[in-house]
Amino acid sequence: MPALEHSDALVLFGATGDLAHKKTFDTIQALIKRGHLNSPVIGVAKSGMTREQLLDRAKEGITTYGRGVDKAAFDKFAATFQYVDGDYADIATFNKLRAALGDAKRPLHYLAIPPSVFGLVTKQLKAAGCVEGSRIVVEKPFGRDMQSAQELNRTLHAVYDERDIFRIDHYLGKEATQNILFTRFANAFMEPLWNRNHVKQIQITMAESFGVQGRGRFYESAGCIRDVIENHLMQVVGFLCMEPPYWPDMERVRDEQIKLFRSVRTLGPNDVVRGQFEDYLKEEGVAPNSQVETFAAVRLFIDNWRWQGVPIYLRAGKCMPMTATEVRVEFHRPPAVVFPNEQSLPHNYWRFLFSPRIEVGLNIQVKADGERMVGQDLELMAVDQSPDEMTPYERLIGDALRGDQTLFARQDVVEEAWRIVDPILGNAVPVHRYKQGTWGPDAANEILLPEGGWHAPQVDGKG
Ligand code: NDP
Repeated sequence: MPALEHSDALVLFGATGDLAHKKTFDTIQALIKRGHLNSPVIGVAKSGMTREQLLDRAKEGITTYGRGVDKAAFDKFAATFQYVDGDYADIATFNKLRAALGDAKRPLHYLAIPPSVFGLVTKQLKAAGCVEGSRIVVEKPFGRDMQSAQELNRTLHAVYDERDIFRIDHYLGKEATQNILFTRFANAFMEPLWNRNHVKQIQITMAESFGVQGRGRFYESAGCIRDVIENHLMQVVGFLCMEPPYWPDMERVRDEQIKLFRSVRTLGPNDVVRGQFEDYLKEEGVAPNSQVETFAAVRLFIDNWRWQGVPIYLRAGKCMPMTATEVRVEFHRPPAVVFPNEQSLPHNYWRFLFSPRIEVGLNIQVKADGERMVGQDLELMAVDQSPDEMTPYERLIGDALRGDQTLFARQDVVEEAWRIVDPILGNAVPVHRYKQGTWGPDAANEILLPEGGWHAPQVDGKG
């Protein structure tokens, strides 16, 4: 692969927005501290703020939501930071940006703005001569369904080539997601087991103990399937189930992703249960008769040689009993011939805990001390570490600055993920109420119960 050129300016559209406030400035500071960002940063928004006011706001955001101000890194950032204030509809805003870019040849434009203005911004960037040599990062959600994702892609492609578009799904930037791929392909004993002959089922749970946290209005336009299943959890399925990719070539990694997604069966009403926590309707910005789901359980099948017939259960929800994300790959039982009286030999499993800690554990059976041939459940802990030392955003923005697209969603992958969930969006199936602090509606156990039941993530040895 030819060497990639590093970006020489970072332009932050939506510099006064919520995402910039809570995450992006903290990420920028961390990148500077690590030496991964040495180029000037230019913020663009229409708040009417001055440069100094925005810097104060950035500092406040880093203090409240980030990892605290690092004086040396922040001062370095502030020394070259420029702020362009103006409406995106006004070409003068982009002419000012062009001037601020000076002789930068390869700027990275980061669109931390609503997707409804992506088209406007890219058109204006082109009109003002800010596109040549540049790359563009876009935030989720990438469409609301397959059709809108295709439209959004057409809008971006009117100005940018696919090789210059970086669609962020922060789950791909997670250490735990990458660890799945690494564990699979860096251990000779793993791959022979990683298929339908040995794997009985897979469960992925993404649980949040909190509700919509005042973001009811946003949540009404999304719901659980659009918010986390179509993107984050599908990306995890990709790394968990794809064929061996060739990591040094980003396109070959994404080729394996799309090959896998194309084999995933389109979901139908029998593959999903939707739930809504009881007090959701009391949230600000939520319609009184809202049918939006705050919980969803989904069963996927992959129709390829490796996985045919292995159910993959995904479950995500708000107001669950805990905040944790875990992948569990469960194996078939051994034949009951050597210990025929040991009726209850459990299924071995691999477990990848994403949060609140990162753990990779393998369940094995050993003989319990004593006269009888009785088994004892043990877990070998392969990884046990605190959450990502480098945050997913830091990893991804750093990669985008270097031009490395491996961990960004390619157009075909995004559209294929929408193809899979399209028929279950909206009110395709009824939404069932569930009590806060439970694992969702009873229907998840009645309609979509995995054999052996749903497994709660194991946190602090409990699960
Ligand atoms: P906000 O609504 O908080 O911020 C939007 C930003 O865009 C503001 O800086 C606003 O400027 C600017 N803006 C919008 N329209 C115009 C315009 N016509 N001219 C100039 N500036 C404009 O959005 P968020 O920060 O919450 O989200 C941004 C993107 O990131 C969205 O795509 C969202 O889905 C995504 N995202 C957000 C997350 C979050 O935690 N907030 C998490 C994951 C993704 P001003 O304020 O000055 O008007």
